[in-house]
Amino acid sequence: MSDFNLIIGGDARPAASTFDVINPATGEPWAQAPDASKEQLDEAFSSAAKAYIDWRTDEDARREALRACANIMFTAGGDLGPILTKEQGKPLSQANVECLGAGLWFNYFADLEVPQEVIQDDDNVFAEVVRRPMGVVAAITPWNFPLILASWKIGPALRAGNTIVLKPSPFTPLATLKMVEKLQAALPPGVLNCVTGGDELGKWMTSHPVPRKVSFTGSVATGKHVAASAAPDLKRVTLELGGNDPAIVLDDANPTEVAEKIFAQAFANTGQICSAIKRVYVPESMQDEVVSVIASKAAAAKFGDGMEDGVEYGPINNKPQFERVKELVADAKAKGATVATGGDVMDRPGYFFQPTVLSNVTEGVRIVDEEQFGPALPIITYRDESEVIDRANATMFGLSGSVWSGDPERGAKVASQLECGTAWVNTHLQLSPAQPFGGFKWSGLGVENGPWGLAAFTEIQVLYKAKG
Ligand code: NAD
Repeated sequence: MSDFNLIIGGDARPAASTFDVINPATGEPWAQAPDASKEQLDEAFSSAAKAYIDWRTDEDARREALRACANIMFTAGGDLGPILTKEQGKPLSQANVECLGAGLWFNYFADLEVPQEVIQDDDNVFAEVVRRPMGVVAAITPWNFPLILASWKIGPALRAGNTIVLKPSPFTPLATLKMVEKLQAALPPGVLNCVTGGDELGKWMTSHPVPRKVSFTGSVATGKHVAASAAPDLKRVTLELGGNDPAIVLDDANPTEVAEKIFAQAFANTGQICSAIKRVYVPESMQDEVVSVIASKAAAAKFGDGMEDGVEYGPINNKPQFERVKELVADAKAKGATVATGGDVMDRPGYFFQPTVLSNVTEGVRIVDEEQFGPALPIITYRDESEVIDRANATMFGLSGSVWSGDPERGAKVASQLECGTAWVNTHLQLSPAQPFGGFKWSGLGVENGPWGLAAFTEIQVLYKAKG
């Protein structure tokens, strides 16, 4: 038995079996999640398809419903925050911020116009380009920001007139189930359904005949499977995938100031952010200072159980990811990297890894070439500007990147040469609902957020009226 239920057709529904949800701060199971059967997934898709018939017709009702969803999220932190912290690991205050963030996203999409454009209006023809909803959306999310990343899909998909079946990660199923349960108060039955289970459930979703669109956030490897699975039915796909974001420090930057900011934007959420800084390029002359400031910030950071007061950083979310970070750091050490701080697991239960700063590493070492997605940061030296741009771009990742300079114009010139979806100058990780977010190359397909993200949940239709 589980205290958490699937949400299908507006009803809370148990599943015949459950699976354990582990608290990453202890490494122990603390709750069970329902393991949806194939039949329950079919029911969820049928409910969504039935709800679509009316939901698509009334734009004002959809705006109102999304505003009501936002208000629910603005007061949901007390209930959802502790669940999110216990399953994800992040500190409670950050779990609460995630609830508020989801509310902001819902309000943004409630207010956003679905564009319409008259392209011909003369004696003979009235022709207009309109955007129609697609039908049912299969939405699949990862474990690093379960609530906010779900809101990036729920907001625009519902605003455009679609209905949804949402599947969170098996590592973090519970806060999403409770969020969807709460949102039912604002939505007609079947408009937003939530199913939980293992990765297999995700496969069933992407190959299911009902959804016309798959909106997926997760790893590159899974994203490729999702694209292949959606292809035979020509389902539309949006893929938000992994990143290996470079931060390039130019020689006119103030090394101490820059290093403090880079630390914050590399280690936020314990480094488990798709667009966190994952490798830092510094001129040789600045290496010592940048490494020493980032390492001292890392060493002073308070890691611990997110339910405890004053904790700034939680554990790594799950065992496979913990093992991966361990492996990448061990590999770097074996290849001669210098450990400025950290470098090993913490001597305590749970999936805690010491915040780690590495120097004397370069391309060809796995922690530089691959996405580490954890609290370990390589700092790499370079000699000249054109060389460093090529090195930053020499990867199949292309999510985002940043350039740090005393002269923002110079920084922008360099940033514009980065092959990635967002190129920041003197900052990193700045996102808003109005800002399109997506990746070049293997980091994704399409974008989320802003009018572009809304358009991705629509089909273009030309409404062409012959006159006379
Ligand atoms: P993952 O790819 O392992 O899993 C993501 C989701 O896909 C989970 O819900 C999982 O159950 C499901 N899934 C697994 N196999 C599937 C399949 N064959 N078909 C359909 N669904 C399947 O990713 P993760 O480990 O949960 O998340 C971490 C990754 O997500 C990192 O690479 C990170 O960079 C990326 N990410 C990207 C963004 C972005 O917006 N670009 C945001 C957050 C995380």
